[in-house]
Amino acid sequence: MSLQAATPVLAHPPAVSAAGATGLSKVYGQGEARVVALDSVSVEFGRARFTAIMGPSGSGKSTLMHCVAGLDSVSAGSARIGDTELSTLNDRQLTQVRREKVGFVFQAFNLLPTLTALENITLPLAIAGRKPNQPWLDTIVAKVGLSARLGHRPAQLSGGQQQRVAVARALLSQPEIIFADEPTGNLDSRAGSEVLGFLRDSVRELGQTVVMVTHDPVAASYADRVVFLADGRITDELLAPTAEGVLDRMRNFDS
Ligand code: ADP
Ligand code: MG
Repeated sequence: MSLQAATPVLAHPPAVSAAGATGLSKVYGQGEARVVALDSVSVEFGRARFTAIMGPSGSGKSTLMHCVAGLDSVSAGSARIGDTELSTLNDRQLTQVRREKVGFVFQAFNLLPTLTALENITLPLAIAGRKPNQPWLDTIVAKVGLSARLGHRPAQLSGGQQQRVAVARALLSQPEIIFADEPTGNLDSRAGSEVLGFLRDSVRELGQTVVMVTHDPVAASYADRVVFLADGRITDELLAPTAEGVLDRMRNFDS
Protein backbone atom coordinates (compact mmCIF):
# COMPACT_ATOMS: atom_id res chain seq x y z
CA MET A 1 0.00 0.00 0.00
CA SER A 2 1.25 3.48 -0.81
CA LEU A 3 -0.73 5.25 1.91
CA GLN A 4 2.28 5.45 4.19
CA ALA A 5 4.46 6.86 1.44
CA ALA A 6 1.92 9.65 0.90
CA THR A 7 2.51 10.99 4.41
CA PRO A 8 3.11 14.75 4.07
CA VAL A 9 6.29 16.56 5.05
CA LEU A 10 5.02 17.34 8.56
CA ALA A 11 5.30 13.99 10.28
CA HIS A 12 2.33 14.23 12.61
CA PRO A 13 -0.72 15.65 10.89
CA PRO A 14 -3.54 15.76 13.44
CA ALA A 15 -6.35 13.28 12.88
CA VAL A 16 -9.12 15.85 12.61
CA SER A 17 -8.35 19.30 11.30
CA ALA A 18 -10.13 22.31 12.79
CA ALA A 19 -8.45 24.75 10.41
CA GLY A 20 -5.52 24.90 8.05
CA ALA A 21 -3.76 26.28 5.04
CA THR A 22 -2.56 24.81 1.75
CA GLY A 23 0.16 26.47 -0.32
CA LEU A 24 -0.64 29.72 1.43
CA SER A 25 1.43 32.69 0.32
CA LYS A 26 1.03 36.27 1.43
CA VAL A 27 2.83 39.15 -0.24
CA TYR A 28 2.66 42.71 1.06
CA GLY A 29 3.53 45.75 -1.04
CA GLN A 30 5.07 46.05 -4.48
CA GLY A 31 8.43 46.75 -6.11
CA GLU A 32 11.04 47.87 -3.59
CA ALA A 33 8.53 47.50 -0.75
CA ARG A 34 7.54 43.93 -1.68
CA VAL A 35 7.65 41.54 1.28
CA VAL A 36 6.88 37.82 1.05
CA ALA A 37 5.46 37.32 4.54
CA LEU A 38 4.35 33.70 3.87
CA ASP A 39 5.85 31.43 1.23
CA SER A 40 3.62 28.48 0.32
CA VAL A 41 2.72 27.37 3.84
CA SER A 42 0.74 24.16 4.32
CA VAL A 43 -0.35 23.30 7.84
CA GLU A 44 -3.26 21.72 9.71
CA PHE A 45 -4.42 22.63 13.18
CA GLY A 46 -5.89 19.65 15.01
CA ARG A 47 -9.25 19.77 16.73
CA ALA A 48 -9.12 19.82 20.54
CA ARG A 49 -5.39 20.43 20.29
CA PHE A 50 -3.24 23.30 21.54
CA THR A 51 -0.86 24.30 18.74
CA ALA A 52 1.82 26.95 19.12
CA ILE A 53 3.23 28.83 16.13
CA MET A 54 6.75 29.77 17.03
CA GLY A 55 9.40 31.79 15.25
CA PRO A 56 11.49 34.94 15.39
CA SER A 57 10.05 38.41 14.98
CA GLY A 58 9.03 39.01 11.37
CA SER A 59 8.88 35.30 10.47
CA GLY A 60 5.19 35.53 9.49
CA LYS A 61 3.46 34.19 12.62
CA SER A 62 0.82 36.92 12.88
CA THR A 63 0.29 36.91 9.12
CA LEU A 64 -0.38 33.15 9.19
CA MET A 65 -2.82 33.56 12.03
CA HIS A 66 -4.58 36.48 10.33
CA CYS A 67 -4.94 34.60 7.04
CA VAL A 68 -6.28 31.39 8.63
CA ALA A 69 -8.61 33.38 10.91
CA GLY A 70 -10.08 35.28 7.98
CA LEU A 71 -8.74 38.64 9.16
CA ASP A 72 -6.56 39.06 6.07
CA SER A 73 -6.78 37.90 2.45
CA VAL A 74 -4.28 35.46 0.94
CA SER A 75 -2.13 36.16 -2.15
CA ALA A 76 -2.06 32.52 -3.26
CA GLY A 77 -3.17 29.16 -1.95
CA SER A 78 -6.01 28.68 0.48
CA ALA A 79 -7.01 28.83 4.12
CA ARG A 80 -9.92 27.09 5.77
CA ILE A 81 -11.81 26.88 9.01
CA GLY A 82 -13.53 23.52 9.38
CA ASP A 83 -14.38 22.72 5.77
CA THR A 84 -15.13 26.33 4.85
CA GLU A 85 -12.66 27.69 2.27
CA LEU A 86 -12.23 31.32 3.26
CA SER A 87 -11.37 32.56 -0.25
CA THR A 88 -14.85 31.61 -1.45
CA LEU A 89 -16.49 34.02 1.00
CA ASN A 90 -17.39 37.68 0.56
CA ASP A 91 -16.74 40.21 3.34
CA ARG A 92 -20.13 39.75 4.94
CA GLN A 93 -19.77 35.96 4.99
CA LEU A 94 -16.22 36.26 6.35
CA THR A 95 -17.46 38.45 9.19
CA GLN A 96 -20.11 35.85 9.93
CA VAL A 97 -17.58 32.99 9.99
CA ARG A 98 -15.31 34.94 12.34
CA ARG A 99 -18.25 35.76 14.58
CA GLU A 100 -19.61 32.21 14.72
CA LYS A 101 -16.51 30.04 14.49
CA VAL A 102 -13.52 31.97 15.82
CA GLY A 103 -12.47 33.38 19.18
CA PHE A 104 -9.57 35.81 19.49
CA VAL A 105 -7.14 36.69 22.26
CA PHE A 106 -4.69 39.50 21.51
CA GLN A 107 -1.54 40.72 23.22
CA ALA A 108 -3.22 44.05 24.04
CA PHE A 109 -6.32 42.41 25.60
CA ASN A 110 -8.69 44.47 23.36
CA LEU A 111 -11.39 44.99 25.98
CA LEU A 112 -13.88 47.85 25.81
CA PRO A 113 -12.98 50.25 28.66
CA THR A 114 -16.55 51.42 29.37
CA LEU A 115 -17.93 47.90 29.80
CA THR A 116 -17.68 45.69 32.87
CA ALA A 117 -15.81 42.38 32.79
CA LEU A 118 -19.11 40.51 32.40
CA GLU A 119 -20.28 42.81 29.59
CA ASN A 120 -16.95 42.36 27.81
CA ILE A 121 -17.22 38.58 28.12
CA THR A 122 -20.72 38.48 26.67
CA LEU A 123 -20.27 41.23 24.05
CA PRO A 124 -19.48 39.01 21.02
CA LEU A 125 -22.55 36.88 21.70
CA ALA A 126 -24.67 40.01 22.17
CA ILE A 127 -23.44 41.33 18.82
CA ALA A 128 -24.36 38.00 17.23
CA GLY A 129 -27.83 38.30 18.80
CA ARG A 130 -27.31 35.22 20.95
CA LYS A 131 -27.95 34.70 24.65
CA PRO A 132 -25.17 33.14 26.70
CA ASN A 133 -25.79 29.70 28.14
CA GLN A 134 -25.81 30.60 31.85
CA PRO A 135 -24.34 27.36 33.28
CA TRP A 136 -21.55 27.50 30.67
CA LEU A 137 -20.90 31.17 31.43
CA ASP A 138 -20.72 30.35 35.16
CA THR A 139 -18.33 27.46 34.45
CA ILE A 140 -15.96 29.60 32.41
CA VAL A 141 -16.02 32.55 34.79
CA ALA A 142 -15.26 30.25 37.72
CA LYS A 143 -12.56 28.48 35.72
CA VAL A 144 -10.65 31.70 35.00
CA GLY A 145 -11.23 32.93 38.57
CA LEU A 146 -13.24 36.05 37.76
CA SER A 147 -16.41 35.41 39.77
CA ALA A 148 -15.67 38.27 42.19
CA ARG A 149 -14.59 40.69 39.45
CA LEU A 150 -17.48 40.62 36.99
CA GLY A 151 -18.65 44.16 37.80
CA HIS A 152 -15.18 45.68 37.40
CA ARG A 153 -14.13 47.70 34.38
CA PRO A 154 -10.82 46.88 32.64
CA ALA A 155 -9.00 49.81 34.30
CA GLN A 156 -9.88 48.29 37.69
CA LEU A 157 -8.30 44.96 36.76
CA SER A 158 -4.68 43.82 36.57
CA GLY A 159 -3.21 42.87 33.20
CA GLY A 160 -3.54 39.20 34.05
CA GLN A 161 -7.19 39.64 35.04
CA GLN A 162 -7.88 41.59 31.85
CA GLN A 163 -6.39 38.80 29.76
CA ARG A 164 -8.47 36.26 31.68
CA VAL A 165 -11.55 38.31 30.70
CA ALA A 166 -10.37 38.07 27.08
CA VAL A 167 -9.90 34.29 27.42
CA ALA A 168 -13.39 33.90 28.95
CA ARG A 169 -14.81 36.03 26.11
CA ALA A 170 -13.16 33.78 23.53
CA LEU A 171 -14.35 30.57 25.26
CA LEU A 172 -17.97 31.61 25.81
CA SER A 173 -19.26 30.90 22.32
CA GLN A 174 -17.41 27.54 22.18
CA PRO A 175 -15.88 28.55 18.85
CA GLU A 176 -14.49 26.08 16.35
CA ILE A 177 -11.08 27.57 17.05
CA ILE A 178 -9.43 30.19 19.26
CA PHE A 179 -6.49 32.18 17.89
CA ALA A 180 -4.24 33.85 20.44
CA ASP A 181 -1.51 36.21 19.20
CA GLU A 182 1.27 36.62 21.81
CA PRO A 183 -1.35 36.42 24.62
CA THR A 184 1.30 36.70 27.35
CA GLY A 185 3.36 39.43 25.66
CA ASN A 186 2.12 42.12 28.05
CA LEU A 187 2.05 39.99 31.21
CA ASP A 188 4.60 39.20 33.90
CA SER A 189 5.61 35.55 34.08
CA ARG A 190 3.19 34.61 36.86
CA ALA A 191 0.12 36.17 35.18
CA GLY A 192 1.36 34.75 31.89
CA SER A 193 1.57 31.21 33.20
CA GLU A 194 -1.97 31.52 34.62
CA VAL A 195 -3.35 32.55 31.23
CA LEU A 196 -1.39 29.78 29.48
CA GLY A 197 -2.70 27.30 32.03
CA PHE A 198 -6.30 28.35 31.28
CA LEU A 199 -5.74 28.02 27.54
CA ARG A 200 -4.24 24.55 28.05
CA ASP A 201 -7.07 23.50 30.40
CA SER A 202 -9.66 24.71 27.88
CA VAL A 203 -8.15 22.23 25.41
CA ARG A 204 -7.68 19.31 27.82
CA GLU A 205 -10.87 19.67 29.85
CA LEU A 206 -13.29 21.44 27.53
CA GLY A 207 -12.12 20.12 24.16
CA GLN A 208 -11.45 23.61 22.82
CA THR A 209 -9.10 24.06 19.85
CA VAL A 210 -6.42 26.71 20.40
CA VAL A 211 -3.73 28.08 18.08
CA MET A 212 -1.28 30.42 19.79
CA VAL A 213 1.37 32.60 18.21
CA THR A 214 4.38 33.16 20.44
CA HIS A 215 8.11 33.81 20.37
CA ASP A 216 8.52 32.57 23.95
CA PRO A 217 9.76 28.94 24.38
CA VAL A 218 8.15 28.70 27.83
CA ALA A 219 4.76 29.76 26.43
CA ALA A 220 5.17 27.28 23.55
CA SER A 221 5.85 24.47 26.05
CA TYR A 222 2.20 24.66 27.20
CA ALA A 223 1.09 23.50 23.74
CA ASP A 224 0.65 19.93 22.47
CA ARG A 225 2.57 20.75 19.33
CA VAL A 226 4.85 23.53 18.13
CA VAL A 227 5.11 24.54 14.48
CA PHE A 228 8.22 26.57 13.66
CA LEU A 229 8.20 29.38 11.14
CA ALA A 230 11.25 31.13 9.68
CA ASP A 231 11.20 33.62 6.81
CA GLY A 232 7.61 32.79 5.97
CA ARG A 233 8.14 29.04 5.76
CA ILE A 234 7.41 26.17 8.10
CA THR A 235 10.74 24.67 8.97
CA ASP A 236 10.00 22.15 11.70
CA GLU A 237 7.58 20.89 14.30
CA LEU A 238 7.79 19.42 17.77
CA LEU A 239 5.27 17.29 19.67
CA ALA A 240 4.85 17.40 23.46
CA PRO A 241 7.36 20.27 23.62
CA THR A 242 9.44 21.29 26.59
CA ALA A 243 10.85 24.82 26.86
CA GLU A 244 14.35 23.33 26.58
CA GLY A 245 13.44 21.36 23.47
CA VAL A 246 11.93 24.45 21.84
CA LEU A 247 15.03 26.49 22.67
CA ASP A 248 17.25 23.82 21.12
CA ARG A 249 15.30 23.93 17.86
CA MET A 250 15.49 27.74 17.84
CA ARG A 251 19.28 27.59 18.27
CA ASN A 252 19.48 25.23 15.29
CA PHE A 253 17.88 27.90 13.07
CA ASP A 254 20.36 30.54 14.16
CA SER A 255 23.41 28.49 13.23
P1 ADP B 1 5.66 37.98 13.16
O1 ADP B 1 4.27 37.98 13.69
O2 ADP B 1 6.29 36.63 13.08
O3 ADP B 1 6.55 38.94 13.92
P2 ADP B 1 4.47 39.21 10.82
O4 ADP B 1 3.55 38.18 10.32
O5 ADP B 1 3.88 40.34 11.59
O6 ADP B 1 5.64 38.51 11.65
O7 ADP B 1 5.27 39.84 9.60
C1 ADP B 1 5.92 39.04 8.60
C2 ADP B 1 6.56 39.97 7.58
O8 ADP B 1 5.54 40.68 6.86
C3 ADP B 1 7.45 41.04 8.19
O9 ADP B 1 8.53 41.26 7.32
C4 ADP B 1 6.54 42.25 8.25
O10 ADP B 1 7.29 43.43 8.20
C5 ADP B 1 5.68 42.07 7.02
N1 ADP B 1 4.33 42.65 7.19
C6 ADP B 1 3.40 42.25 8.09
N2 ADP B 1 2.27 42.98 7.95
C7 ADP B 1 2.49 43.85 6.94
C8 ADP B 1 1.71 44.88 6.30
N3 ADP B 1 0.46 45.14 6.68
N4 ADP B 1 2.28 45.57 5.30
C9 ADP B 1 3.55 45.32 4.89
N5 ADP B 1 4.33 44.37 5.43
C10 ADP B 1 3.82 43.64 6.44
MG1 MG C 1 3.39 39.01 15.31
